[in-house]
Amino acid sequence: MGKGIISASLAKLLQARGYEVTIQKLDPYINVDPGTLNPYEHGECYVTEDGAETDLDLGHYERFLGIPTSQANNVTTGRIYQSVINKERRGDYLGKTVQVIPHITDEIKRRVKMLGGKNKLDFVITEIGGTVGDIESLPYVEAVRQLKWEMGEQNVLVIHLTLVPFLQSSGELKTKPTQHSVKMLLEAGVQPNILVLRTSHELGDDLRRKVALFCNVDFDSVVQSIDVSTIYEVPIMMQQEKLDITVLKKMGMDYSGTADLGPWNKFLKRLQNPKFHTKIALVGKYVELADAYISINESFKHAGAMNNCCVDLEYIHSERIDESNYCDILKGYAGILVAPGFGDRGIDGKILAARYARENNVPFLGICLGLQCAVIEFARNVLGLTKAHSTEMALKTPDPVIDLMEEQKGVTEKGGTMRLGAYPCVITKGTRTFEAYGITDILERHRHRYEFNNKYLEAFKKAGMIPAGINPDTSLVEIMEIKDHKWFVGVQFHPEYSSTVLKPHPLFVSFVKATIC
Ligand code: GLN
Repeated sequence: MGKGIISASLAKLLQARGYEVTIQKLDPYINVDPGTLNPYEHGECYVTEDGAETDLDLGHYERFLGIPTSQANNVTTGRIYQSVINKERRGDYLGKTVQVIPHITDEIKRRVKMLGGKNKLDFVITEIGGTVGDIESLPYVEAVRQLKWEMGEQNVLVIHLTLVPFLQSSGELKTKPTQHSVKMLLEAGVQPNILVLRTSHELGDDLRRKVALFCNVDFDSVVQSIDVSTIYEVPIMMQQEKLDITVLKKMGMDYSGTADLGPWNKFLKRLQNPKFHTKIALVGKYVELADAYISINESFKHAGAMNNCCVDLEYIHSERIDESNYCDILKGYAGILVAPGFGDRGIDGKILAARYARENNVPFLGICLGLQCAVIEFARNVLGLTKAHSTEMALKTPDPVIDLMEEQKGVTEKGGTMRLGAYPCVITKGTRTFEAYGITDILERHRHRYEFNNKYLEAFKKAGMIPAGINPDTSLVEIMEIKDHKWFVGVQFHPEYSSTVLKPHPLFVSFVKATIC
């Protein structure tokens, strides 16, 4: 539906007016975090600097606002219950019966307020996942009712996003679903203050008036969110709809002046009027679902715009690629990206993709598992270690060029136990990577258990695959490059998590550039 984008757009408008703002996502599912979820379930798992595995909406928040989020910005029902149950076991409830109201709702409210209090923010925008009427959402709606009651109308505002379907046969927009979901909210004691109506067709004044009347909101508080070609137009659209002004007015805040979206508009112009085109292949195994690689997708939009270039990113399922067809499938792409991933399904196709890029001097970016595949390929076909592999896929390989990190060896639990979050890396001067960043000391986010095996480092260096970045504290290899190649970079971290609209990631910018010149 687009709650994440509407939240991020409103936050952008408030931020551009000089307000301090953050966004938080409450997810009604029972997993403690999305780290253990298959990407087919809810799309990509996004990782914050502090190492939280979170909902992909946090990626939108960071890309729009350009400020880092943290664990506190994503809370699930699982986490809420976990902390309430921990308190109960500690005896904190002093013999009381622990119940959804007030204990679960108190914990929800505490998590909302904590974010604002800790960071001295003007606004906390809390996005509640799911749909009104879901059983899982009930405690959240109740917490909203209580917050409104306790903090007062001026301090808590409810924005409800609904869908207005268009009936092709009669050429009509239908407001019934909106009326019904507002009614359900009212039954739960929550009167929404602003309605954002998602629609494929313009809403006329009559329709807005009707919705306002039926749903007890002001005419100005019926906001249209019409389908647009890129999510990055939504803040502009919300500004035209005066969503920021309506919010500020209702909350008794200063709404004079306008939000300055100058740099944002510049980006949008470049995005929508590209001078160049490039075609890049993304080789991965979750290609059926666009959301599985959403941060990579968006990073290419930022980096493309920076290069005045439209990046045509085509997804290729790595299971489709084998010895007999890899040249045919991969020829015709100006660049190849091998995506992050887990497990051995489709691994051979990924290794072949790295091989094709190396042998044909095609710009290559390998991310996490993508780097690991490039390393395995190089070991097998350049160093002659024909059985080289990662111990993730082949526990008994004679040449474990990718191996489990020492601190991972005793780990048996799956949730939240990977190497997660931002770690430092020092870049080697004179490399493509250094050319891209222009600095030597960087911090990048991680999400993996396996790493380059330093036993093989000398052999790799001698043969022309060199470490372009090393963790200064642990000596773990963070970046590998092929020296005599147009642009071949593999990174153990995830650059896609930190690319934003106004600060595209340097590696993506350089990679795209290498594909067009
Ligand atoms: N499966 C690999 C590891 O755990 C790579 C993970 C990833 O690509 N995020 O090291």
